[in-house]
Amino acid sequence: MSQKTGIIGGGVSGLALAYFLGGNYEILEKDNQCGGLCTTYEKNGFLYDIGGHIMFSTNKEILNFEVALLEDNVHQKRRSNKIWYKGRFVKYPFENGLHALDKEEIFECLRDYLKNENPKPTNLKEWCHSTFGNSLAEKYLVPYNKKIWKIDPSLMGLEWVERIPKPPMEDVIKSAIGIETEGYTHQLYFYYPIKGGFQSLIKAFENKLTNISRNKEVKAIYKEKNIWKVETQDSIHDYETLVSTIPIFELVKVLKETLPQKVSDAINNLRYNSMAVVLVGLNKVKHEDLTAIYVPDTESPAHRYCFSAGFSEHLAPKGCSSIFAEITFPGNTPKEEVASTTVIDKTVGWLAKEGFINKSEVCETDIKYIKYAYPVYDLNYIQNVKIIYDYFDTLGISLLGRFAQFVYINSDVCIQNAQSLAKKLTSTAYIKK
Ligand SMILES: Cc1cc2nc3c(=O)[nH]c(=O)nc-3n(C[C@H](O)[C@H](O)[C@H](O)COP(=O)(O)OP(=O)(O)OC[C@H]3O[C@@H](n4cnc5c(N)ncnc54)[C@H](O)[C@@H]3O)c2cc1C
Repeated sequence: MSQKTGIIGGGVSGLALAYFLGGNYEILEKDNQCGGLCTTYEKNGFLYDIGGHIMFSTNKEILNFEVALLEDNVHQKRRSNKIWYKGRFVKYPFENGLHALDKEEIFECLRDYLKNENPKPTNLKEWCHSTFGNSLAEKYLVPYNKKIWKIDPSLMGLEWVERIPKPPMEDVIKSAIGIETEGYTHQLYFYYPIKGGFQSLIKAFENKLTNISRNKEVKAIYKEKNIWKVETQDSIHDYETLVSTIPIFELVKVLKETLPQKVSDAINNLRYNSMAVVLVGLNKVKHEDLTAIYVPDTESPAHRYCFSAGFSEHLAPKGCSSIFAEITFPGNTPKEEVASTTVIDKTVGWLAKEGFINKSEVCETDIKYIKYAYPVYDLNYIQNVKIIYDYFDTLGISLLGRFAQFVYINSDVCIQNAQSLAKKLTSTAYIKK
């Protein structure tokens, strides 16, 4: 039986859209399980997400919705993130931890923060300088951003920083003289599934949905007599309405349309980063007091290391714990280079050298290659996505999700966008059209 709305991709965006539509949909997911970037992997009893995944949101309604979906399989935790800077812990975010620095460095940061004559910024690097002063920018923000984005922050626009809360001046001064303050308070307390890792959120959605077809990789999309035809390896599906949640790069590979040159140029010019997630399983419970560390130093392969015990004891076998590291690579890096044993060895080596583990405690390792991890907001980003959005709007395919819309969004905004799209698709005006 044909369904009105075809949803390509069973990540959180596709599942949330199906949930809000309430019926008359079909999800086609290429893998044998749903989840996408919210997948939790397992190796010999060690569970690990695609990097640190936590539930937080500035939208309380959506956060409550996520928490309610998990029923009793959820707990609230307090963030305990730190920055590992010159071999010592600095409270996260950096501007709230200045007191941990040497006196000379505290002075430099405070002086440049208070006497900041940088002009209005036009790119990310300038924004770091004009918001925090030269010393804070050059000691942490610029090197950290360079490390995660794999391009110089002067080549990135300002769109991404809109989501970074700016600290009140009083907090920076207090932090310099050693009075406790908290930054990024919207994620100071977060929710996380007690069992099953972040993918439990996906499973909770799946329990409420009926029409999901797994192992259905979409291979071709075209229109015939006003009906969308969607072909997989072994089936053809008809839909009145089509929503794509798959990465835009994958969508255009299967779309049987000749793209206007400027649209294909815009897509080819989008910059993204791939990622390796390295699991380091330990034969004892360690670092229960930490959730994550952020490392600007280029000697460390990863920019961020998460500690399973800070999320849930059920992410590791009894008496064990783990660390998972996130290492970004430019999007064109070959898979073999990203998911290599060299990357695992470097990660374990760095953790041991800095004293986070002893090599003898390592009882398990694993690595996963994530092709599409981070959209990178370079200076042409806005111009490129506008061309792409206009084209797909005219074509009549709705784009929804992190790599379909090519936006840096978390699961909360994916759900929020799915709710809005469901309202639009079911509105009388849209049905008449
Ligand atoms: C390192 C990292 C940390 C993050 N941290 C957080 C966090 O702390 N909190 C949070 O809420 N969010 C976090 N996120 C973001 C979150 O993971 C994403 O926003 C969300 O999972 C995106 O979901 P999506 O459904 O839009 O896309 P995806 O998850 O990419 O789903 C797309 C789906 O389409 C399927 N697909 C692809 N091609 C085809 C095809 N041809 N046919 C059929 N199906 C196909 C894929 O298999 C996949 O299931 C993080 C992301 C990363 C990378």
